[in-house]
Amino acid sequence: MKKILVMGGAGYIGSHTVKHLAQEGYPCVVADNLVYGHREAVPESVPFEKADLAVPSSLDALFAKYDFEAVVHFAAYTYVGESVTDPQKYYQNNVAGTLNLLAAMKKRGVNKIVFSSTCATYGEPQYTPMDEKHPQNPINPYGRSKLMIEQIFADYARAYGLRYAALRYFNAAGAAADGSIGESHNPETHLIPLVLQAIKGERDCIKIFGDDYPTPDGTCLRDYIHVEDLATAHRLALEKLDRFSGCMNLGTGVKTSVKDIIAAAEKVTGKKCPVRLAPRRAGDPAELYAAAHGPAETVLGWKPQYMQIEDIIATAWKWEQNKRY
Ligand code: UDP
Repeated sequence: MKKILVMGGAGYIGSHTVKHLAQEGYPCVVADNLVYGHREAVPESVPFEKADLAVPSSLDALFAKYDFEAVVHFAAYTYVGESVTDPQKYYQNNVAGTLNLLAAMKKRGVNKIVFSSTCATYGEPQYTPMDEKHPQNPINPYGRSKLMIEQIFADYARAYGLRYAALRYFNAAGAAADGSIGESHNPETHLIPLVLQAIKGERDCIKIFGDDYPTPDGTCLRDYIHVEDLATAHRLALEKLDRFSGCMNLGTGVKTSVKDIIAAAEKVTGKKCPVRLAPRRAGDPAELYAAAHGPAETVLGWKPQYMQIEDIIATAWKWEQNKRY
């Protein structure tokens, strides 16, 4: 049986997708360079290969060893701030690395790919909720690198018949419900793990980046989508690639403020979160959330299971208390 190659399958969203695909009976191979990924996040039963997008020979070796049906591609650098100070790193790894991957696929006649894109490809929102027709004007090299890859896919689709699904995530959050895998970034910059670590006493406090936004409580609104719901969407996209090729949003359409997150985390943990007000973070729009009932629902038949922020945070808390890596 042909296999699914999961590039970057040892990372946060990649590892949850591998777990889901394996549970659904898909034979996977994980490839990761382990720069940010965790070997422990990949199940023992799934073959693991150390490969690097920057090294075409490592990709050729991978495609020679296995017979792949399709690729699910998560391998990317994702720190927005770092992308501003070191754009070379982001364009080289994310864009040039994806070109190497596409070349290896093309050589072997593999023409299906599901890709981690991002709502950061839209840039400053011109309207909310955001649908797929929203203009794409990313405001940092990270978002631009992801948009460039979407555009490359469209060209490869026309020229070589590539079938692709570029999934534009809103804010990925939470951890596996069984507590086996979860989020572990170094450095950590995301709100929910930082709030939980402040509650645990591992950090002095959580800094609220601005409370003077034009939102009901003055803090930024985001659309938090559970990582297991993202995993399901990748599997559905893989299954539908014969019928669908293009880009789509993955969000819940529910808007949650920074203060809502802190309150929900306090409720879930039963503990107080030490909070400090800090200046706005550059590049943070007041609100970013997806239009509900978009193509993810109508084309893929996807429906997020985690619609309550407390339920999302409860899985993150379970992981945070018993992290394996
Ligand atoms: N945020 C915050 N304090 C932090 C980290 C994040 O107030 O220490 C806010 C940030 O300004 C944004 C929201 O939390 O409005 C989500 O930020 P995160 O970095 O988790 O995701 P992003 O929306 O940047 O992808």
